[in-house]
Amino acid sequence: MTGLVIANWKMNASSAAVKVFADKWHGMPALTGVETVICPPAPYLSAVAAAMPAMGLGAQDVSAHGVGAFTGEVSAEMLRDLGCQWAIVGHSERRTYHGESNQSVAAKASAVASLGLNPVVCVGEALADRDQGNHEQVVSEQLRASLDAVDPEKLVVAYEPIWAIGTGVTASADQANQMHGVIRAGLHDMYGRESSQVRVIYGGSVKADNAGELFACDEIDGALVGGASLEAESFWKIAQAASAGSQ
Ligand code: PEP
Repeated sequence: MTGLVIANWKMNASSAAVKVFADKWHGMPALTGVETVICPPAPYLSAVAAAMPAMGLGAQDVSAHGVGAFTGEVSAEMLRDLGCQWAIVGHSERRTYHGESNQSVAAKASAVASLGLNPVVCVGEALADRDQGNHEQVVSEQLRASLDAVDPEKLVVAYEPIWAIGTGVTASADQANQMHGVIRAGLHDMYGRESSQVRVIYGGSVKADNAGELFACDEIDGALVGGASLEAESFWKIAQAASAGSQ
């Protein structure tokens, strides 16, 4: 399976920063055997598409609604019109700060997939869940409740333990690989043999110096990268590690 490395820029960007990133990115050797995607804040989607046309383009969130009186929202159709092939849904920051439920994440994932885009559905446990030994159960339940009628061929699941996001504390390769196995088993229950088409990627303080170890794991198909994706060279190094891991 081709490695998939997705940059989540969160609420970080400017026209100048897009240009700096693109100039540096184009100065680095082209990578093979890995798919790279950038998810900038929505106002910068077109700038990223214009500056890096060979890069996959994704949104950080999407509306579950198609059209109409939903002030501030952006539909999957609009994203597709702007050239997006990907949309992150259910990131823990959306679940925490915007009260997104598994049900609304499932509706968003379906809206994205029904238009032929790839939903990147995020799941992951809090530190308290892990401390109490409930992490497998919490993530399995979240996964099942966050997916509803999504074509497995389009689907990407991002395992993002909340305690590892933006903290500098990454899950160990063994912890991540083990949870990816749990997610794979859950996907198999839902989709049967077709579940093998789903890519399961890891997110949580992935950096150039820990990416190789993570990508060497059998169950890890790529990464969702926050902080370390803001700088072209570090994102390139992570993508390069995925390209090496996929060979
Ligand atoms: C994320 O935002 O999805 C993420 C994994 O962030 P970071 O890499 O900064 O932990």
